[in-house]
Amino acid sequence: MDILYNSTRDSKNVVTASKAILKGLAEDGGLYVPQSIPKFDKTIEQLASMDYKELAYEVMKLYITDFSEEELKNCIDKAYDSKFDTKDIAVLREEDGANYLELFHGATIAFKDMALSILPHLLITSAKKNNVKNEIVILTATSGDTGKAALEGFAGVKGARIIVFYPKDGVSPIQEKQMVTQKGDNTYVVGIRGNFDDAQSGVKAMFNDKELAKKLDDAGFMFSSANSINIGRLVPQIVYYVYAYTRLVASGKIKAGDKINVVVPTGNFGNILAAYYAKHMGLNINKLICASNDNKVLYDFFNTGAYDKNREFILTSSPSMDILISSNLERLIYDIAGKDSAKTKELMNQLSSKGRYDIDEDMKKKLDDFVGGYASEEDTFKTIKNLYEKTGYIIDTHTAVAATVYNDYKKAANDELTTIIASTASPYKFTRSVMKAIDEKYESMSDFELVDELSRISKVKIPAAIETIRTAPVLHDTVCDKDDMKKVVEGILLG
Ligand SMILES: *Cc1c(COP(=O)(O)O)cnc(C)c1O
Repeated sequence: MDILYNSTRDSKNVVTASKAILKGLAEDGGLYVPQSIPKFDKTIEQLASMDYKELAYEVMKLYITDFSEEELKNCIDKAYDSKFDTKDIAVLREEDGANYLELFHGATIAFKDMALSILPHLLITSAKKNNVKNEIVILTATSGDTGKAALEGFAGVKGARIIVFYPKDGVSPIQEKQMVTQKGDNTYVVGIRGNFDDAQSGVKAMFNDKELAKKLDDAGFMFSSANSINIGRLVPQIVYYVYAYTRLVASGKIKAGDKINVVVPTGNFGNILAAYYAKHMGLNINKLICASNDNKVLYDFFNTGAYDKNREFILTSSPSMDILISSNLERLIYDIAGKDSAKTKELMNQLSSKGRYDIDEDMKKKLDDFVGGYASEEDTFKTIKNLYEKTGYIIDTHTAVAATVYNDYKKAANDELTTIIASTASPYKFTRSVMKAIDEKYESMSDFELVDELSRISKVKIPAAIETIRTAPVLHDTVCDKDDMKKVVEGILLG
Protein backbone atom coordinates (compact mmCIF):
# COMPACT_ATOMS: atom_id res chain seq x y z
CA MET A 1 0.00 0.00 0.00
CA ASP A 2 1.24 3.48 -0.81
CA ILE A 3 1.67 5.79 2.14
CA LEU A 4 1.21 9.46 1.40
CA TYR A 5 2.04 12.37 3.67
CA ASN A 6 0.07 15.47 4.54
CA SER A 7 0.88 18.67 6.36
CA THR A 8 -0.19 18.92 10.01
CA ARG A 9 -1.54 22.39 9.20
CA ASP A 10 -3.40 21.51 6.00
CA SER A 11 -4.56 17.94 5.48
CA LYS A 12 -5.26 18.74 1.81
CA ASN A 13 -1.56 19.39 1.25
CA VAL A 14 -0.63 15.81 0.30
CA VAL A 15 2.73 14.63 -1.09
CA THR A 16 4.65 11.41 -1.71
CA ALA A 17 7.35 10.24 0.71
CA SER A 18 10.14 11.42 -1.59
CA LYS A 19 8.59 14.90 -1.89
CA ALA A 20 8.16 15.10 1.88
CA ILE A 21 11.84 14.19 2.32
CA LEU A 22 12.90 16.81 -0.22
CA LYS A 23 10.85 19.59 1.30
CA GLY A 24 11.45 18.93 4.98
CA LEU A 25 8.87 21.45 6.14
CA ALA A 26 5.55 22.01 4.30
CA GLU A 27 5.02 25.49 2.72
CA ASP A 28 2.26 26.21 5.22
CA GLY A 29 4.74 25.80 8.08
CA GLY A 30 3.33 22.40 9.02
CA LEU A 31 5.15 19.08 9.34
CA TYR A 32 4.51 16.14 7.06
CA VAL A 33 2.87 13.14 8.70
CA PRO A 34 2.00 9.75 7.21
CA GLN A 35 -1.73 9.62 6.47
CA SER A 36 -1.85 6.39 8.41
CA ILE A 37 0.74 4.53 10.46
CA PRO A 38 1.51 1.24 8.69
CA LYS A 39 1.47 -2.11 10.52
CA PHE A 40 4.31 -4.63 10.38
CA ASP A 41 3.91 -7.17 7.61
CA LYS A 42 6.30 -9.64 9.33
CA THR A 43 5.97 -11.31 12.72
CA ILE A 44 8.13 -10.25 15.67
CA GLU A 45 9.88 -13.66 15.47
CA GLN A 46 10.73 -13.05 11.81
CA LEU A 47 12.03 -9.58 12.63
CA ALA A 48 14.04 -10.99 15.54
CA SER A 49 16.07 -13.12 13.15
CA MET A 50 17.19 -10.15 11.01
CA ASP A 51 20.26 -7.99 11.34
CA TYR A 52 20.07 -4.19 11.57
CA LYS A 53 20.12 -3.53 7.84
CA GLU A 54 17.53 -6.19 7.01
CA LEU A 55 15.29 -4.86 9.74
CA ALA A 56 15.81 -1.26 8.57
CA TYR A 57 14.51 -2.28 5.17
CA GLU A 58 11.45 -4.04 6.62
CA VAL A 59 10.50 -0.95 8.63
CA MET A 60 11.40 1.78 6.15
CA LYS A 61 9.76 0.14 3.12
CA LEU A 62 6.42 0.57 4.90
CA TYR A 63 6.88 4.35 5.01
CA ILE A 64 8.94 5.26 1.96
CA THR A 65 6.70 3.50 -0.50
CA ASP A 66 7.73 5.38 -3.64
CA PHE A 67 11.32 4.08 -3.49
CA SER A 68 12.07 0.82 -5.28
CA GLU A 69 13.47 -2.06 -3.23
CA GLU A 70 16.84 -1.49 -4.88
CA GLU A 71 16.84 2.25 -4.15
CA LEU A 72 15.98 1.82 -0.49
CA LYS A 73 18.42 -1.05 0.08
CA ASN A 74 21.10 1.00 -1.60
CA CYS A 75 20.51 3.89 0.83
CA ILE A 76 20.59 1.51 3.80
CA ASP A 77 23.83 -0.11 2.63
CA LYS A 78 25.56 3.24 2.21
CA ALA A 79 24.43 4.42 5.64
CA TYR A 80 25.00 1.54 8.02
CA ASP A 81 28.54 0.52 7.13
CA SER A 82 31.99 0.85 8.70
CA LYS A 83 31.21 4.42 9.78
CA PHE A 84 29.78 2.56 12.76
CA ASP A 85 32.26 0.98 15.13
CA THR A 86 30.15 -2.16 15.57
CA LYS A 87 28.45 -4.43 13.03
CA ASP A 88 25.38 -4.47 15.30
CA ILE A 89 24.98 -0.69 14.59
CA ALA A 90 23.03 -0.29 17.86
CA VAL A 91 23.96 -2.09 21.09
CA LEU A 92 21.67 -3.18 23.90
CA ARG A 93 23.41 -3.37 27.27
CA GLU A 94 21.79 -4.33 30.56
CA GLU A 95 23.07 -2.52 33.62
CA ASP A 96 21.46 -2.17 37.03
CA GLY A 97 18.04 -3.41 35.91
CA ALA A 98 17.64 -1.33 32.75
CA ASN A 99 18.47 -2.01 29.11
CA TYR A 100 20.57 0.80 27.70
CA LEU A 101 20.12 1.08 23.95
CA GLU A 102 23.45 2.56 22.85
CA LEU A 103 22.73 4.67 19.78
CA PHE A 104 26.15 6.33 19.68
CA HIS A 105 28.30 3.96 17.69
CA GLY A 106 28.27 6.11 14.53
CA ALA A 107 30.69 8.71 13.14
CA THR A 108 29.89 11.49 15.62
CA ILE A 109 29.12 9.33 18.67
CA ALA A 110 25.57 10.60 19.21
CA PHE A 111 22.24 9.07 18.22
CA LYS A 112 21.78 11.65 15.46
CA ASP A 113 24.06 9.45 13.33
CA MET A 114 21.36 6.78 13.23
CA ALA A 115 19.25 8.97 10.95
CA LEU A 116 21.77 11.41 9.51
CA SER A 117 23.97 8.76 8.00
CA ILE A 118 21.03 7.73 5.78
CA LEU A 119 19.28 11.08 5.19
CA PRO A 120 21.72 12.34 2.50
CA HIS A 121 21.10 9.19 0.47
CA LEU A 122 17.33 9.42 0.91
CA LEU A 123 17.51 13.06 -0.18
CA ILE A 124 19.68 12.54 -3.25
CA THR A 125 17.50 9.60 -4.33
CA SER A 126 14.36 11.72 -3.78
CA ALA A 127 15.85 14.55 -5.84
CA LYS A 128 16.55 12.21 -8.74
CA LYS A 129 13.04 10.72 -8.58
CA ASN A 130 11.49 14.16 -8.72
CA ASN A 131 13.76 15.53 -11.47
CA VAL A 132 15.19 18.22 -9.23
CA LYS A 133 17.96 20.06 -11.06
CA ASN A 134 18.87 22.60 -8.38
CA GLU A 135 21.66 21.99 -5.93
CA ILE A 136 20.25 21.10 -2.51
CA VAL A 137 21.24 23.34 0.37
CA ILE A 138 20.78 21.80 3.77
CA LEU A 139 20.05 24.50 6.31
CA THR A 140 20.26 23.32 9.88
CA ALA A 141 20.01 24.68 13.39
CA THR A 142 21.71 22.54 15.97
CA SER A 143 21.85 22.26 19.72
CA GLY A 144 25.15 20.47 19.17
CA ASP A 145 24.72 16.94 17.91
CA THR A 146 22.56 17.30 14.80
CA GLY A 147 25.02 19.76 13.31
CA LYS A 148 28.05 17.51 13.42
CA ALA A 149 26.12 14.42 12.38
CA ALA A 150 24.60 16.30 9.42
CA LEU A 151 28.01 17.71 8.45
CA GLU A 152 29.51 14.21 8.48
CA GLY A 153 26.57 12.86 6.52
CA PHE A 154 26.64 15.52 3.81
CA ALA A 155 30.38 16.34 3.54
CA GLY A 156 31.52 15.54 0.03
CA VAL A 157 28.03 14.49 -1.16
CA LYS A 158 27.66 15.69 -4.77
CA GLY A 159 24.68 17.92 -5.50
CA ALA A 160 24.39 19.12 -1.90
CA ARG A 161 25.79 21.82 0.38
CA ILE A 162 25.24 22.19 4.09
CA ILE A 163 25.09 25.26 6.34
CA VAL A 164 24.92 24.68 10.10
CA PHE A 165 24.01 27.29 12.73
CA TYR A 166 24.79 26.62 16.39
CA PRO A 167 24.46 28.72 19.58
CA LYS A 168 28.00 29.99 20.15
CA ASP A 169 27.84 29.60 23.94
CA GLY A 170 25.32 26.76 24.10
CA VAL A 171 27.23 23.63 23.10
CA SER A 172 29.93 21.57 24.83
CA PRO A 173 33.62 22.27 24.03
CA ILE A 174 33.92 18.88 22.34
CA GLN A 175 30.74 19.49 20.30
CA GLU A 176 32.05 22.85 19.12
CA LYS A 177 35.48 21.47 18.26
CA GLN A 178 33.84 18.65 16.28
CA MET A 179 31.91 21.15 14.16
CA VAL A 180 34.50 23.87 13.56
CA THR A 181 37.07 21.31 12.41
CA GLN A 182 34.70 19.85 9.78
CA LYS A 183 36.33 19.15 6.43
CA GLY A 184 34.63 19.33 3.03
CA ASP A 185 34.26 22.20 0.52
CA ASN A 186 30.46 21.93 0.67
CA THR A 187 30.27 22.49 4.46
CA TYR A 188 29.71 25.78 6.34
CA VAL A 189 29.52 26.20 10.12
CA VAL A 190 28.29 29.43 11.75
CA GLY A 191 28.04 30.31 15.46
CA ILE A 192 25.22 32.66 16.45
CA ARG A 193 24.98 35.00 19.42
CA GLY A 194 21.75 33.51 20.75
CA ASN A 195 20.37 30.19 21.96
CA PHE A 196 19.18 27.10 20.09
CA ASP A 197 15.61 28.36 19.79
CA ASP A 198 16.95 31.55 18.13
CA ALA A 199 18.91 29.43 15.67
CA GLN A 200 15.89 27.22 14.96
CA SER A 201 13.56 30.22 14.53
CA GLY A 202 16.05 31.85 12.16
CA VAL A 203 16.24 28.72 10.03
CA LYS A 204 12.45 28.33 10.00
CA ALA A 205 12.07 31.96 8.89
CA MET A 206 14.42 31.35 5.96
CA PHE A 207 12.44 28.26 4.94
CA ASN A 208 9.24 30.34 4.93
CA ASP A 209 10.82 33.28 3.06
CA LYS A 210 9.34 33.18 -0.45
CA GLU A 211 11.51 36.02 -1.73
CA LEU A 212 14.67 34.22 -0.63
CA ALA A 213 13.43 30.98 -2.23
CA LYS A 214 12.98 32.80 -5.53
CA LYS A 215 16.47 34.33 -5.36
CA LEU A 216 17.98 30.93 -4.62
CA ASP A 217 16.01 29.23 -7.37
CA ASP A 218 17.35 31.79 -9.87
CA ALA A 219 20.86 30.97 -8.68
CA GLY A 220 20.24 27.19 -8.96
CA PHE A 221 19.74 26.34 -5.28
CA MET A 222 16.94 24.85 -3.21
CA PHE A 223 16.68 24.59 0.58
CA SER A 224 16.06 21.36 2.38
CA SER A 225 16.21 20.46 6.02
CA ALA A 226 18.21 17.92 7.97
CA ASN A 227 16.44 18.85 11.21
CA SER A 228 14.40 16.24 12.94
CA ILE A 229 11.23 17.65 11.39
CA ASN A 230 12.21 15.85 8.16
CA ILE A 231 10.39 12.52 7.86
CA GLY A 232 13.62 11.23 6.34
CA ARG A 233 14.99 11.45 9.87
CA LEU A 234 11.97 10.25 11.73
CA VAL A 235 11.51 7.01 9.79
CA PRO A 236 15.09 5.67 10.27
CA GLN A 237 14.68 6.30 14.01
CA ILE A 238 11.72 3.93 14.24
CA VAL A 239 14.04 1.11 13.21
CA TYR A 240 16.12 0.93 16.37
CA TYR A 241 13.13 0.58 18.67
CA VAL A 242 12.01 -2.43 16.67
CA TYR A 243 15.60 -3.66 16.68
CA ALA A 244 15.89 -3.29 20.47
CA TYR A 245 12.57 -5.03 21.13
CA THR A 246 13.42 -7.93 18.84
CA ARG A 247 16.89 -8.30 20.42
CA LEU A 248 15.19 -8.68 23.81
CA VAL A 249 13.07 -11.40 22.23
CA ALA A 250 16.06 -13.05 20.55
CA SER A 251 18.01 -13.13 23.82
CA GLY A 252 15.02 -14.60 25.70
CA LYS A 253 14.63 -11.63 28.07
CA ILE A 254 11.05 -11.17 26.89
CA LYS A 255 8.62 -13.15 24.76
CA ALA A 256 7.23 -11.80 21.49
CA GLY A 257 4.22 -9.68 22.42
CA ASP A 258 5.36 -8.86 25.96
CA LYS A 259 5.00 -5.26 27.07
CA ILE A 260 8.02 -3.06 27.66
CA ASN A 261 8.63 0.55 28.63
CA VAL A 262 10.78 2.98 26.67
CA VAL A 263 12.51 6.00 28.23
CA VAL A 264 13.81 8.74 25.97
CA PRO A 265 15.86 11.83 26.90
CA THR A 266 13.93 14.40 24.93
CA GLY A 267 14.53 17.77 23.30
CA ASN A 268 12.87 18.33 19.96
CA PHE A 269 10.57 15.32 20.49
CA GLY A 270 11.87 13.47 17.41
CA ASN A 271 13.37 10.41 19.06
CA ILE A 272 10.41 9.68 21.32
CA LEU A 273 7.98 10.32 18.47
CA ALA A 274 9.73 7.55 16.54
CA ALA A 275 9.05 5.24 19.50
CA TYR A 276 5.39 6.35 19.45
CA TYR A 277 5.19 5.41 15.77
CA ALA A 278 6.83 2.06 16.54
CA LYS A 279 4.18 1.46 19.18
CA HIS A 280 1.38 2.24 16.77
CA MET A 281 2.91 -0.05 14.15
CA GLY A 282 2.35 -2.90 16.58
CA LEU A 283 5.33 -2.96 18.93
CA ASN A 284 4.02 -3.67 22.41
CA ILE A 285 5.21 -0.60 24.28
CA ASN A 286 3.45 0.16 27.56
CA LYS A 287 4.65 3.64 28.52
CA LEU A 288 6.67 6.11 26.53
CA ILE A 289 8.53 7.94 29.25
CA CYS A 290 9.54 11.42 28.14
CA ALA A 291 12.55 12.64 30.14
CA SER A 292 13.41 16.35 30.25
CA ASN A 293 16.16 18.32 31.96
CA ASP A 294 15.51 21.64 33.77
CA ASN A 295 13.94 22.98 30.56
CA LYS A 296 10.90 20.92 31.50
CA VAL A 297 8.35 22.37 29.10
CA LEU A 298 7.32 18.84 28.02
CA TYR A 299 7.03 17.59 31.59
CA ASP A 300 4.63 20.44 32.30
CA PHE A 301 2.74 19.76 29.07
CA PHE A 302 2.15 16.09 29.88
CA ASN A 303 1.12 16.90 33.41
CA THR A 304 -1.14 19.91 32.78
CA GLY A 305 -2.04 19.98 29.07
CA ALA A 306 -0.54 23.46 28.76
CA TYR A 307 2.43 23.97 26.48
CA ASP A 308 4.12 27.16 27.64
CA LYS A 309 7.48 28.32 26.39
CA ASN A 310 7.30 31.59 28.32
CA ARG A 311 9.96 30.75 30.84
CA GLU A 312 13.64 31.16 31.45
CA PHE A 313 15.87 29.21 29.08
CA ILE A 314 18.31 27.23 31.22
CA LEU A 315 21.74 26.10 30.02
CA THR A 316 22.31 22.61 31.39
CA SER A 317 24.91 19.86 31.14
CA SER A 318 22.63 18.10 28.63
CA PRO A 319 22.68 20.86 25.98
CA SER A 320 21.09 18.78 23.23
CA MET A 321 17.91 18.88 25.32
CA ASP A 322 18.04 22.61 26.08
CA ILE A 323 14.99 23.39 24.01
CA LEU A 324 11.76 25.25 24.71
CA ILE A 325 10.05 24.65 21.36
CA SER A 326 9.86 20.92 20.69
CA SER A 327 9.04 21.01 16.98
CA ASN A 328 8.05 17.39 16.55
CA LEU A 329 5.39 17.64 19.25
CA GLU A 330 3.24 19.17 16.50
CA ARG A 331 2.92 15.72 14.96
CA LEU A 332 1.56 14.31 18.22
CA ILE A 333 -0.77 17.29 18.62
CA TYR A 334 -2.16 16.60 15.14
CA ASP A 335 -2.78 12.97 16.07
CA ILE A 336 -4.49 13.64 19.38
CA ALA A 337 -6.56 16.39 17.74
CA GLY A 338 -8.07 13.58 15.67
CA LYS A 339 -6.03 14.57 12.58
CA ASP A 340 -7.70 17.95 12.57
CA SER A 341 -5.28 20.22 10.71
CA ALA A 342 -7.31 23.40 11.31
CA LYS A 343 -7.18 22.80 15.04
CA THR A 344 -3.46 22.01 14.91
CA LYS A 345 -2.80 25.18 12.95
CA GLU A 346 -4.76 27.26 15.46
CA LEU A 347 -2.73 25.85 18.37
CA MET A 348 0.57 26.41 16.56
CA ASN A 349 -0.48 29.97 15.75
CA GLN A 350 -1.11 30.51 19.46
CA LEU A 351 2.35 29.13 20.18
CA SER A 352 3.99 31.64 17.86
CA SER A 353 1.85 34.62 18.90
CA LYS A 354 1.49 34.03 22.64
CA GLY A 355 4.15 31.43 23.32
CA ARG A 356 1.61 28.98 24.71
CA TYR A 357 -1.41 26.86 23.98
CA ASP A 358 -3.75 24.65 26.00
CA ILE A 359 -5.19 21.39 24.74
CA ASP A 360 -8.77 20.38 25.56
CA GLU A 361 -9.91 17.45 27.71
CA ASP A 362 -10.49 15.19 24.69
CA MET A 363 -6.92 15.66 23.55
CA LYS A 364 -5.56 15.21 27.06
CA LYS A 365 -7.19 11.80 27.32
CA LYS A 366 -5.23 10.67 24.30
CA LEU A 367 -1.90 11.34 26.00
CA ASP A 368 -2.17 8.06 27.89
CA ASP A 369 0.76 6.56 26.00
CA PHE A 370 3.10 9.05 27.67
CA VAL A 371 4.56 9.78 31.08
CA GLY A 372 6.49 13.03 31.53
CA GLY A 373 9.38 13.30 33.96
CA TYR A 374 12.35 15.58 34.52
CA ALA A 375 15.69 15.51 36.27
CA SER A 376 17.57 18.34 37.96
CA GLU A 377 21.28 18.84 37.32
CA GLU A 378 22.13 17.57 40.77
CA ASP A 379 20.12 14.37 40.39
CA THR A 380 21.51 13.78 36.90
CA PHE A 381 25.08 13.96 38.23
CA LYS A 382 24.19 11.66 41.13
CA THR A 383 22.82 9.08 38.71
CA ILE A 384 26.08 9.06 36.70
CA LYS A 385 28.14 8.64 39.86
CA ASN A 386 25.90 5.97 41.41
CA LEU A 387 25.71 3.87 38.26
CA TYR A 388 29.48 4.08 37.81
CA GLU A 389 30.18 3.11 41.42
CA LYS A 390 27.70 0.25 41.29
CA THR A 391 28.52 -1.22 37.88
CA GLY A 392 31.54 0.54 36.33
CA TYR A 393 29.32 1.65 33.43
CA ILE A 394 29.59 5.34 32.53
CA ILE A 395 26.71 7.10 30.79
CA ASP A 396 26.55 10.59 29.32
CA THR A 397 24.53 13.46 30.80
CA HIS A 398 21.54 13.08 28.42
CA THR A 399 21.25 9.38 29.08
CA ALA A 400 21.58 10.15 32.78
CA VAL A 401 18.55 12.47 32.62
CA ALA A 402 16.59 9.51 31.24
CA ALA A 403 18.00 7.08 33.82
CA THR A 404 17.10 9.48 36.65
CA VAL A 405 13.54 9.89 35.38
CA TYR A 406 13.27 6.12 34.98
CA ASN A 407 14.42 5.44 38.55
CA ASP A 408 11.84 7.93 39.85
CA TYR A 409 9.09 6.46 37.67
CA LYS A 410 9.87 2.89 38.69
CA LYS A 411 9.54 3.78 42.35
CA ALA A 412 6.43 5.92 41.98
CA ALA A 413 4.51 3.61 39.61
CA ASN A 414 5.79 0.34 41.05
CA ASP A 415 6.30 -0.78 37.46
CA GLU A 416 8.80 -3.61 36.96
CA LEU A 417 8.33 -4.11 33.20
CA THR A 418 11.45 -4.66 31.11
CA THR A 419 12.61 -1.19 30.10
CA ILE A 420 14.73 0.28 27.34
CA ILE A 421 16.54 3.56 27.97
CA ALA A 422 17.63 5.33 24.81
CA SER A 423 21.31 6.10 25.36
CA THR A 424 21.75 9.05 23.04
CA ALA A 425 25.40 10.02 23.34
CA SER A 426 28.75 8.60 24.22
CA PRO A 427 30.13 9.92 27.53
CA TYR A 428 33.16 11.02 25.47
CA LYS A 429 31.05 13.75 23.96
CA PHE A 430 30.33 15.34 27.35
CA THR A 431 33.52 14.38 29.13
CA ARG A 432 33.82 17.42 31.39
CA SER A 433 30.34 17.12 32.89
CA VAL A 434 30.52 13.35 33.17
CA MET A 435 33.89 13.32 34.92
CA LYS A 436 32.89 16.15 37.25
CA ALA A 437 29.82 14.13 38.21
CA ILE A 438 32.05 11.21 39.18
CA ASP A 439 34.57 13.27 41.13
CA GLU A 440 35.06 17.00 41.71
CA LYS A 441 38.82 16.45 41.56
CA TYR A 442 38.65 16.25 37.76
CA GLU A 443 37.63 19.90 37.51
CA SER A 444 41.19 21.16 36.98
CA MET A 445 42.06 18.84 34.09
CA SER A 446 42.10 19.90 30.42
CA ASP A 447 39.53 18.50 27.99
CA PHE A 448 41.84 15.91 26.55
CA GLU A 449 43.34 14.92 29.90
CA LEU A 450 39.76 14.16 30.87
CA VAL A 451 39.30 12.06 27.74
CA ASP A 452 42.33 9.95 28.68
CA GLU A 453 41.15 9.63 32.28
CA LEU A 454 37.65 8.59 31.16
CA SER A 455 39.18 5.86 29.04
CA ARG A 456 41.28 4.68 31.98
CA ILE A 457 38.43 4.45 34.49
CA SER A 458 35.70 3.17 32.12
CA LYS A 459 37.97 0.76 30.21
CA VAL A 460 36.22 1.90 27.01
CA LYS A 461 38.49 2.70 24.07
CA ILE A 462 38.58 6.36 22.98
CA PRO A 463 36.34 6.63 19.89
CA ALA A 464 37.90 7.67 16.58
CA ALA A 465 35.59 10.70 16.52
CA ILE A 466 37.46 12.07 19.57
CA GLU A 467 40.98 11.04 18.58
CA THR A 468 40.73 12.89 15.26
CA ILE A 469 39.71 16.26 16.74
CA ARG A 470 42.55 16.26 19.28
CA THR A 471 44.86 17.92 16.77
CA ALA A 472 42.51 18.99 13.95
CA PRO A 473 42.77 22.65 12.82
CA VAL A 474 39.79 25.03 13.12
CA LEU A 475 38.37 25.51 9.62
CA HIS A 476 35.21 27.53 10.43
CA ASP A 477 35.19 30.71 12.52
CA THR A 478 32.16 32.72 11.38
CA VAL A 479 30.03 34.13 14.21
CA CYS A 480 26.97 36.34 13.67
CA ASP A 481 24.09 37.99 15.52
CA LYS A 482 20.89 35.97 15.58
CA ASP A 483 19.22 38.53 13.32
CA ASP A 484 21.90 38.25 10.64
CA MET A 485 21.53 34.58 9.74
CA LYS A 486 19.87 35.34 6.40
CA LYS A 487 22.65 37.76 5.46
CA VAL A 488 25.23 35.06 6.15
CA VAL A 489 23.36 32.51 4.01
CA GLU A 490 23.03 34.98 1.14
CA GLY A 491 26.72 35.73 1.45
CA ILE A 492 27.63 32.05 1.18
CA LEU A 493 25.31 31.18 -1.70
CA LEU A 494 24.88 34.37 -3.70
CA GLY A 495 28.28 35.96 -2.99
C1 LIG B 1 19.27 15.44 19.95
C2 LIG B 1 19.58 14.79 21.22
C3 LIG B 1 18.58 14.51 22.16
C4 LIG B 1 17.15 14.94 21.95
O1 LIG B 1 16.52 14.22 20.92
P1 LIG B 1 15.17 14.76 20.27
O2 LIG B 1 14.90 13.86 19.14
O3 LIG B 1 15.48 16.16 19.81
O4 LIG B 1 14.14 14.75 21.32
C5 LIG B 1 18.93 13.84 23.31
N1 LIG B 1 20.21 13.46 23.54
C6 LIG B 1 21.20 13.72 22.66
C7 LIG B 1 22.58 13.31 22.99
C8 LIG B 1 20.92 14.37 21.47
O5 LIG B 1 21.91 14.62 20.61
